[in-house]
Amino acid sequence: MTRLGFWDFFESLKERAEFWDVSNIFSLRVKGRIPRWLLPACIACVIGLVIIVAAVVSTRSDSPPKNEVKNILNGQKASGGTDKEKQEKGKSPEEKDSAKKDDGTDEDLQSLEKDEYVPENPVFPSFPLTAAARTGERTPTRITSPSMKLIFKCYGRAHGVGMCMDGVSALARSGYSATQILSFYYSNISFGTCDEYQKIRVKGRNGKILTLSLREYLYRLTEEPDSFPYEGLKALYIAARTYTLSCIRRGKHSRDGFDICSSGGCCQAFDENKNISKFPMSIRAVNETAGQIMLYEGEPIIAAYCGSCGGHTENNEDIWGSRPMPYLRGKPDPYCSSSPGFVKTLEINAAQLESKLSSSPATNVGRLKLIDLTDRTPGGRVRTARLGGSLGEKTVKGSVFAKALGFRSTKIEYTIIE
Ligand SMILES: [Zn+2]
Ligand SMILES: [Zn+2]
Repeated sequence: MTRLGFWDFFESLKERAEFWDVSNIFSLRVKGRIPRWLLPACIACVIGLVIIVAAVVSTRSDSPPKNEVKNILNGQKASGGTDKEKQEKGKSPEEKDSAKKDDGTDEDLQSLEKDEYVPENPVFPSFPLTAAARTGERTPTRITSPSMKLIFKCYGRAHGVGMCMDGVSALARSGYSATQILSFYYSNISFGTCDEYQKIRVKGRNGKILTLSLREYLYRLTEEPDSFPYEGLKALYIAARTYTLSCIRRGKHSRDGFDICSSGGCCQAFDENKNISKFPMSIRAVNETAGQIMLYEGEPIIAAYCGSCGGHTENNEDIWGSRPMPYLRGKPDPYCSSSPGFVKTLEINAAQLESKLSSSPATNVGRLKLIDLTDRTPGGRVRTARLGGSLGEKTVKGSVFAKALGFRSTKIEYTIIE
């Protein structure tokens, strides 16, 4: 087959057009001959069209910056940088903030990408104390065999009333302020001030009574390490300052000739020989919160705190039997569960449990036949434990039962594996 050039092909088209008598479709035809300039003109037209199409496509793909798109979506003018800056300058800070929030999806995604999402103004949920908050075994367990297996789990440590320091640590690391943290753990409180330099009488570790300013006393507390998250340290020292004043007001140790002792179990952990130069963050936290205290009806509150509540704080009356304090209300604490040592597990058989219980006269019931941990606080702690055995039956405080098992809290659950 002979290979034709484009012009030859065009000429053949012309002949065909004449044959079919449709040659007049070539509007530029002059006296039966297609002018030679028609081909370059067509090519030029095609190139021109290609350039125009390419220009349109590139204009469309060259989209404006994301924030301008958002402005368009928000009904704002998609202006250049200068105009936008002018708009921003004209806004109050509140308006700028609300504009940021209105930006929507991207902001939300950025928040999710962060390790921990920190809302600007967190609203803590309030939880009513109901029977549903109770945990642990609901029925007494009959011990049927010495080989019967029991898996105990103990949550948290200490009494669980007031502020939970493991939860404080987690909240502070998530960006919550000392005031927010305190407002979560203590209900119905307000904040006030006191004289930071008032003198208090402290019974030191060596048994001698020291007279110190409130500030000097706080410097020497040993409740948390200096590496504790800073807002948590501030929360701690506001609570400790408040607690100290509540001890003086109540006359907790007035009969003993001093205001507060150095025991963490009784009052607050204090060491008169503490080398405070090695605790710069603690000193700073005391100084930065100078004079700040928590009040209920104008009085400093009994600002109790503990190591870890085990997931639920307690009403003061359920633990200490004292008059209910409106600011010491139990509530679920979802913040301490990530701390190491939150739960301690003990897997033993009935014979081993019997051995542990019989090691103390308070819990020794001979051959173990029954354990009953159904008497619980609303926060899920064992209030009393009923133990039955060959020597009879005993009902002991939850703390006594916990101690026999080597636990640091009465928030105890167990499962039986026959
Ligand atoms: Zn004391
Ligand atoms: Zn807690």
